[in-house]
Amino acid sequence: MSAEEMASDELKQLRNVLTQEAIREHQMAKTGGTTTDLLQCGKCKKKNCTYNQVQTRSADEPMTTFVLCNECGNRWKFC
Ligand SMILES: [Zn+2]
Repeated sequence: MSAEEMASDELKQLRNVLTQEAIREHQMAKTGGTTTDLLQCGKCKKKNCTYNQVQTRSADEPMTTFVLCNECGNRWKFC
């Protein structure tokens, strides 16, 4: 096995773990998402947000994070 193949195997494993975590978070998201103070609202500049991470198409696609500001209701997303 080449080093490249091994690396991609590791990547796959890592991605698997991340996907499982994402699924867990997504299930939690049904009850309102995860509250965080790490994200700042671009509108009111407050750090009181709830985020949901969603796998948009397939497991190979990057996740989209939907953020909701708990202060002013501003919504945005990033990848
Ligand atoms: Zn806001």
